[in-house]
Amino acid sequence: MPASSGSTPIARARRSLPSAAEIARQVPSTSPLLIETFGGPFSPLNETESQIDLIRELALPTVLISSSKIGAMGRTLAMLRALRAEGIVPTAVVLMGEADEHARARIAKESGLPVAPLHFPSTFDASGIRESASKQASALNEIVVLLSATRPVVDHREADRQFVWHPYTPLRGAEPPLEVIGAREEFLHLADGRKVIDAISSWWTILHGHLDPHLMGVLEQASRSFDHVLFAGVTHAPAIRVAELLLQTTLWSGGRVFFSENGSTAVEVALKMAYQVWRHRGEPNRTLFVGFEDGYHGDTFGAMSVGRDPLFFGNFEPLLFKVERVPVSAERLDEVLTRQAGKVAAVIIEPLVQGAGGMRMHSPWELRAIYEVTRKHGVLFIADEVMTGCHRTGPMWAFQAAGISPDLICTAKTLAGGILPLAATLASPAIVEAFDTADREKTFFHGHSFTAHPLACSLAAANLERLRNEPPTAPARFQQFWNETFAELRGHPRVRDVRVRGTIAAIELEVPGGYLAKTAQAMRACCLEQGVFLRPLGNVLYALPPFGTREESLRRIAAAMKKAVEVA
Ligand code: PMP
Repeated sequence: MPASSGSTPIARARRSLPSAAEIARQVPSTSPLLIETFGGPFSPLNETESQIDLIRELALPTVLISSSKIGAMGRTLAMLRALRAEGIVPTAVVLMGEADEHARARIAKESGLPVAPLHFPSTFDASGIRESASKQASALNEIVVLLSATRPVVDHREADRQFVWHPYTPLRGAEPPLEVIGAREEFLHLADGRKVIDAISSWWTILHGHLDPHLMGVLEQASRSFDHVLFAGVTHAPAIRVAELLLQTTLWSGGRVFFSENGSTAVEVALKMAYQVWRHRGEPNRTLFVGFEDGYHGDTFGAMSVGRDPLFFGNFEPLLFKVERVPVSAERLDEVLTRQAGKVAAVIIEPLVQGAGGMRMHSPWELRAIYEVTRKHGVLFIADEVMTGCHRTGPMWAFQAAGISPDLICTAKTLAGGILPLAATLASPAIVEAFDTADREKTFFHGHSFTAHPLACSLAAANLERLRNEPPTAPARFQQFWNETFAELRGHPRVRDVRVRGTIAAIELEVPGGYLAKTAQAMRACCLEQGVFLRPLGNVLYALPPFGTREESLRRIAAAMKKAVEVA
């Protein structure tokens, strides 16, 4: 193509230019690196990517260098907004040229970033640059300090061991934790320079990917109006919108949404509501709950009672309330509800996938049969969708695959895209009706300081709108990929079972199980060596990556899992 046709130099180069990922892989992680973008961060890098993609891929501290010439304020602030919309927040801004204190102060105030003025050298040769650098040594030093502050150069392991108490972790003998210094898309960036795939979506929370540009933009926008406000005697538009959107996902006409902060509290609320409903209805003897073997619902007392894992909660057994536990079977549930007639308040289940209990799966038909049994006995049905909600298994709620309509629905983890903690308990019209009175004794006395946090609600509203307008294709795509790639493991002598549903894939090994199984550590270490972060549940190795996980990463996860099966 002749140059005069107006084609870009990239098009004219007629050869394939390296991708952002390829360039990033060549960059040494130890030596200092200064990258100057030609034409600015939104100019092309290659045929399909912009320089911004390389900046994101490198995940290094960034300084925005802007000219102090007239228009500096507008230009710099517009660029900062554009960068933030792409998930990049510079560490500092440098204004090059004649000092303009007014512009410097205004940019610093509006952006919340340090802004350093620097002069150009008088001549662009070695002595001019040397002279300019020595004259401006203190300003340059400040920038260096800012940059190194965001790049941990110290080993934090000793301080972590001394001061911090991590969840589910013994105080002695545990492997030191991985230090994460940032997270983008499906990757965790580690302090030692490694970039590993977050194949379990940060404890099943991150829905689309880390630093999702749309949701982070919504958060930034919302943080201009809100920090936190209480939710008793006060309301706000983000919470109202979330409640409305959540209720639109149900078949109810009516119902209400009660907010809290995490999965356990969403479950506590459901249990307390279920019990109190029966008191209002004049059946106070319904004090019994039914949970399922291998079920898990959280770590607070009510949630522990219905979960009842002997390893996790055995220490607390004498303090837990009475619960009937049954295998996931409509028949067995029928037996219990017949035997305990008139005493059961509610049945609680994780629809289709029992997560923490080992990614155990049951069919939509079994779930429907269980639901029918609760209808037959007039007992409430609580769907704990804390792990399965927001399309993790395919539909918005896992229970929808069974065509049922629970009385209470618990949601948390992914509700605000996994970015901030937020939980909700959806109560059906029949539940609401029992509380629909001005009698203060019938109030639902429950609430948490950070209930319906406005920033989390703003994120959740944007998340739910996005899920409604563009139902994610990832669950079906991942399901097909997992089924194809793991087909070879069915019948493998080391493999007891392969289970797949939507974005979730689990491989259960033919080795002694239990959360403390040695196999788990070996499999975790093996996957980590291959750049994939996983936390097996005993002898169950599973992945549950964010929707935005690219195909190459899915393949890497599957390869790491297959290798772990061989070495474990
Ligand atoms: N219910 C289910 C089904 C869960 O998987 C979990 C957490 N893994 C919880 C409740 C508790 O949620 P949280 O950790 O947010 O308290």
